[in-house]
Amino acid sequence: MPLSQSVHEQMSQRLQQAREDLLGAVRARTDADEGDAPSIAPGAHTVPGDDRPTAEMISHDEAHLAEHDTNTLHEIDAALGKLANGGAGICESCGCEIPDERLLATPTVRFCIACQDRIEKESGIGRGPTM
Ligand SMILES: [Zn+2]
Repeated sequence: MPLSQSVHEQMSQRLQQAREDLLGAVRARTDADEGDAPSIAPGAHTVPGDDRPTAEMISHDEAHLAEHDTNTLHEIDAALGKLANGGAGICESCGCEIPDERLLATPTVRFCIACQDRIEKESGIGRGPTM
C-alpha cells in the first residue's frame, strides 16, 4: 500500500472540504444571480432587433466560470474515487509513487513531479520552438 492511513485520511478530508467549498461558492453565485434577475426590469431597455451583446457577454463569463468549477469538481471527484479504489498516490503516466508532501499539497494531483513537468512543457505552447 503506497499511502499511509494518515495521508489517506488527510487527503480525503481536504478533498471533501474543497468539494464543499466549491459547491458552496457555486451555489452562492447561483443564488446571487437569481436574486439579481428580477431587479433588471425585463424588457425595459429592449429594443426589438437591437441585439446588444452586453448581457450575452456577462452570461458567457459566468458560463466560463461554471465550466472551470465543473472541471475542478471532476478533478476532486476523480481524486476521491482513486482514494476509495486504491489508485491514489500513483502517477497516472509512469505509475511511480507520488510523494506524500505532493499529495498533501495538492490532493487532486495526478502525476509525479517529473511527469507533470513533461506534460506542462508539452502543452506549454508559446514558449518558443518545441524542438
Ligand atoms: Zn510519473
